[in-house]
Amino acid sequence: MKSPYFNEDHEMFRASVQQFVKKIKPQFETWEENHLIPKTIWGEMGEMGYLGLIYPEQYGGMAADFFTSVVLIEEIAKGGNTGFGTALGVHAYMATNHINHIGSEDLKQKYLVPSIKGDLLGAIAFTEPNAGSDLKGIKTYAVRDGDDYVINGSKTYITNGCMADYFVTLCKNEEGKFDLIVIEGDDKDGLTRNKLHKLGQYSSDTAEIFFQDVRVPATNLIGEAGKGFYYVMESFQLERLTAAISTCATIEFALQITLDFMHERVAFGKGLTEFQALRHRIANHYTELEATKQLAYHTAWLFENGVFAVKEASMAKLKATELANSIIADCLQLHGGAGYMEDYLIARLFRDVKVGTIYGGTSEIMRDIIAKMTVDAVHFKKVY
Ligand SMILES: Cc1cc2nc3c(=O)[nH]c(=O)nc-3n(C[C@H](O)[C@H](O)[C@H](O)COP(=O)(O)OP(=O)(O)OC[C@H]3O[C@@H](n4cnc5c(N)ncnc54)[C@H](O)[C@@H]3O)c2cc1C
Repeated sequence: MKSPYFNEDHEMFRASVQQFVKKIKPQFETWEENHLIPKTIWGEMGEMGYLGLIYPEQYGGMAADFFTSVVLIEEIAKGGNTGFGTALGVHAYMATNHINHIGSEDLKQKYLVPSIKGDLLGAIAFTEPNAGSDLKGIKTYAVRDGDDYVINGSKTYITNGCMADYFVTLCKNEEGKFDLIVIEGDDKDGLTRNKLHKLGQYSSDTAEIFFQDVRVPATNLIGEAGKGFYYVMESFQLERLTAAISTCATIEFALQITLDFMHERVAFGKGLTEFQALRHRIANHYTELEATKQLAYHTAWLFENGVFAVKEASMAKLKATELANSIIADCLQLHGGAGYMEDYLIARLFRDVKVGTIYGGTSEIMRDIIAKMTVDAVHFKKVY
């Protein structure tokens, strides 16, 4: 047996995703230049079944085990366009995840089914200009008015923000509790978007969103009123797990392109791979990567078996994203001057992975959660 996690079906699926990535890879440069992923790609992904791997067949999903998703996330990351991985993660494992778990049948028909097909693109809108790590401080209000909610406020740093058809949005209600509401709309409905310019991950679009008297039907409430905060906290575990998996695959990809460069590059009459000091650095990087990847796989296995693995998901996200920053900085160093040039992919990856320790919960917040669970013996319970 080659792996306790991946069987022959997973490996066949891996080969098919690799083919898909090979087919779309020539477009990646244009996406980076345009700072946008064309919407048509989601339809192509939907046709392949990639957007509904974890969802029930009755909604067009594949109802596959979680390691099928691990394969998809890894192979997309190994394509080298990290922004694409982020956009996919937000759509297929975050926005739709909320609707699948606790959305009404109507919401599933209206948003989940077309999202799995790739006809609609989803986003999650939690962060605000004055509330990121401390999400309880949000000031976007949803006030009930007859059969509608009237929403006022703003969100920022929203992935897929410019292109999304709907936002799974964390709002405060009149009681000061939290509701999770699906908001769609555009200028005419009081919803405006402003594209943000980032340090990296250019392909993935990121926006500020403003809501001015945006009306949505009360039936757009996801789950129960007042429970939105718990739903968001719970769904972070899947977000952090997918971040850990994709980040490990990005490190693997960065090491591979670095080795390719080192095999070619000659200094002092020999290839860079022949210098022991450099060989040992590569050996250390692969060792650290393997340990982190196994933690991510173990966490994926816990998730697959229904365990609410808050500690492990936080550890895996913390370790993988911090490691990506240190290893990829060294990969750049190993490229010499070439690594500082935009012509070399490693320069882009160096910029791209910085955000890993910030979004989906910062490293400081990950350490806070892990400390609560290890030092204070706090246990977090599932709400759904
Ligand atoms: C490219 C990108 C995409 C994003 N996509 C989305 C998205 O799709 N949807 C969404 O809702 N959000 C998104 N975010 C927002 C992201 O989740 C937040 O930026 C993140 O949670 C941090 O919040 P903040 O920026 O407000 O920083 P702050 O919370 O203000 O933190 C600033 C610094 O203080 C530290 N800090 C804060 N509190 C503590 C504490 N208690 N103890 C120790 N240190 C602390 C933080 O770790 C950080 O270093 C995205 C962000 C980026 C950059």
